[in-house]
Amino acid sequence: MNATIVGGGLVGSLWSIFLARRGFSVTMHERRPDMRRADIPAGRSINLAVSTRGLHALERVGLREKVLEHGVAMRGRMIHAPDGSQSLLRYGKDDSECIFSISRGTLNKVLLSEAEETGRVRVHFDRLVRDVRFSESAVHFADEAGEHSAELLFATDGSASAVRAALMKLPGHRETSEELSYGYKELTIAPAHSAGLDRHALHIWPRGTFMLIALPNEDDSYTCTLFLPQRNEHRKGTRSVSAEKGPGSEAAGGRKCLSFEELGDDAAVRAFFGEHFADAVPRLPDLTEQFFTNPVGQMWTVKCAPWNYQGRALLLGDAAHAIVPFFGQGMNCGFEDCALLDDLFAKGTHDLVTLFSAFSTMRKPNADAIADMAVENFIEMRDKVADPKFVFEKEVEKILQKEFPGDYVPRYGLVTFSRVPYRIAFEAGVRQQAILTELCATIQKPQDVDLKRAKQLIVEKLTPLLRG
Ligand SMILES: Cc1cc2nc3c(=O)[nH]c(=O)nc-3n(C[C@H](O)[C@H](O)[C@H](O)COP(=O)(O)OP(=O)(O)OC[C@H]3O[C@@H](n4cnc5c(N)ncnc54)[C@H](O)[C@@H]3O)c2cc1C
Repeated sequence: MNATIVGGGLVGSLWSIFLARRGFSVTMHERRPDMRRADIPAGRSINLAVSTRGLHALERVGLREKVLEHGVAMRGRMIHAPDGSQSLLRYGKDDSECIFSISRGTLNKVLLSEAEETGRVRVHFDRLVRDVRFSESAVHFADEAGEHSAELLFATDGSASAVRAALMKLPGHRETSEELSYGYKELTIAPAHSAGLDRHALHIWPRGTFMLIALPNEDDSYTCTLFLPQRNEHRKGTRSVSAEKGPGSEAAGGRKCLSFEELGDDAAVRAFFGEHFADAVPRLPDLTEQFFTNPVGQMWTVKCAPWNYQGRALLLGDAAHAIVPFFGQGMNCGFEDCALLDDLFAKGTHDLVTLFSAFSTMRKPNADAIADMAVENFIEMRDKVADPKFVFEKEVEKILQKEFPGDYVPRYGLVTFSRVPYRIAFEAGVRQQAILTELCATIQKPQDVDLKRAKQLIVEKLTPLLRG
């Protein structure tokens, strides 16, 4: 059977391997040149965190170890306080629960090469797909090489998907897309300036309404990402947490730079970094050059349904569910799409109308849940990790996790280190917050937590959800 894929990014390349292993002959149309031959940027974000869901999908096609050869394990968040002190908030119960930083370009190249090596995947590069039309018998589209018809088409053309745009014009389809008022800018700490940074951590400089993060790369460099409101207007409608926290606030006096719009010249950028990320500044000797060379990226949440056109076309990955990057799950979720869809294919592909509808219906609530959790996690990363109440609750949570292994698994762990459906992880998080709020209300020290009451609450609220 023949299949067409639009978009040879991370999810498209992986899905082509799954299809090839099921005996499909695959043609993939990718708008960019072949990144293995041309020196081109790999697109959004230089590196990504891959975790259990993504690793499981890679394992299914025998690529987990090959990919991990290029990954750097990160065991927690290293919080950089304004005074330069650092503290580690572990992600999991111990070092066995890590996420892995990997270069997007390297990962995409590995997947493209593996796809071609199956002998069943043909990739056409420099082919921008447009003018997509759907009919009973086929999906019609045009690209640089002319007009094409596909009996079976998978759209993995990312958050600005051309296939989704056409599909959502059909009756019965709906889409919402929401742009985050924040932008992001990437900056690189060169290996020569990275000594002393803990290589096995995701570094965060949380500053209330904005933050800087840094992920390690294979070559000892770090990719920093500054997340900051795009425009000044954001401040009018948003309570500025840093404004309540002393230095750096408007209350402390003077005009402060708190949006990309305000960082218009070298002096403003230097002042901003010097004030908020002082310990990062010596690591970025070419800060202003990088700052004004690299673009400001935008972030979107896209929700749509249904993801399929009969049994002819199906959206996967960001094309179906673009999310903001703060849970490190966009790619992991797209990879999980591939593994779950392959499970359905394993049962037979004779009725793709039913199969695609079932997949879309089953997966959509989970995609919506991770989209919402990703937005929540932004607030956690940029603000709450520096909040003593949050840190206190996290300490209590660690105790619960240790005392009730398997029965109390924090939401972060359910999302990152398990394959529990995202919607269950979402609900578990709501219930866990209620448990923590009650347990922390009357204690001064985390060790004083009432374990008997904790057990009751866990059995009452969490066990039925996770074991039900
Ligand atoms: C700053 C940032 C950090 C992130 N960090 C993480 C992280 O740590 N962990 C994680 O899991 N996720 C992360 N993500 C999300 C992750 O990047 C995406 O979820 C993932 O790339 C989705 O893969 P995809 O293949 O669906 O789409 P994409 O990677 O966008 O690939 C789409 C492909 O389709 C091609 N294409 C687009 N339009 C057309 C067309 N019309 N015709 C032909 N080809 C086309 C593109 O060139 C591209 O190759 C991050 C995202 C951002 C922005």
